[in-house]
Amino acid sequence: MTIQLLERVEKCYICGSGQSKLLMPVRDCWYGLPGEFNIVQCTDCGLIYLNPRPKPEAISFYYPKTYAPHQHAGYEGSRNGKIKAIIKSLFDIRSHYLPPPGSPDARLLEIGCSYGGFLDQARAKGWEVYGVEIADEPVKYGREFLGLNIHHGILESARFPDDFFDLATGWMVLEHLPDPLETLQEVGRITKAGGQVAFSVPNIGSWEFRLFGPNWFALEVPRHFSHFTSSSIGQLFTRSGLKLEKIYYQKNISNIPASMALTIEKQYGQNMLTKSLRNIYHLNVFNKLSFPIAAMMSWFKMTGRITVIGRVIK
Ligand SMILES: [Zn+2]
Repeated sequence: MTIQLLERVEKCYICGSGQSKLLMPVRDCWYGLPGEFNIVQCTDCGLIYLNPRPKPEAISFYYPKTYAPHQHAGYEGSRNGKIKAIIKSLFDIRSHYLPPPGSPDARLLEIGCSYGGFLDQARAKGWEVYGVEIADEPVKYGREFLGLNIHHGILESARFPDDFFDLATGWMVLEHLPDPLETLQEVGRITKAGGQVAFSVPNIGSWEFRLFGPNWFALEVPRHFSHFTSSSIGQLFTRSGLKLEKIYYQKNISNIPASMALTIEKQYGQNMLTKSLRNIYHLNVFNKLSFPIAAMMSWFKMTGRITVIGRVIK
């Protein structure tokens, strides 16, 4: 059944080369969905990507209802008290980038906005916000309960006007897209000259990947199609006509407990310990407790998630 769910990638979308080398065979270790995949590396530009990968019509099959980033339970809304805001800024892991809007009508786009938690925060800061999301359930929640303007579909089908946005964002989304170059070129079209772009991605150039290999949680097979390093994301920006200005190494080591769970499970199967390790990674308390270590590793540019800021050049 899985054979017809997959497609072969014929060429690297950054440099167009058809040559690649196998890094490792991989499977969906997190949800255990069927299919055999490979992580390969372009021998010309070095981009690391999944091949084969799910076909566009099979993508929803690989995002189960329990897919963590689509869950809105526990979302507390955008009205944080002053003390909460101060604590939040002390433990800022740099996963998102949200400057104040430069003008009263400044527009912000989030690609892959899920149920709209970030858009809700941005709106509270004064931005006029727009989201794009392909998953049905989160779009429904964002529109009905948060009253957000979310386009249901891919970015290209939203057909925003030229030079519409002041800031375009996407948090842990570029690695899920079949052609990030095409998407970033569209971002360049709809964002004003001099406007900003901000994206976060897992960092396969990190020691976490060298340590955990095929059990590194952020491989997220087969939902992650591309695996970026600071170098390959830089090449992608350049080819898209974007100027890369800053890379933040997030103060976040939450890939580690999940990667430990996958490593143990490969040997001993799922047990109480691995179930706890699987649940720890998205708990706020884990990020707070591990913050000093994560901050130190971020200083040495060693963490497994990066946030990249750039500017649109026209
Ligand atoms: Zn390439």
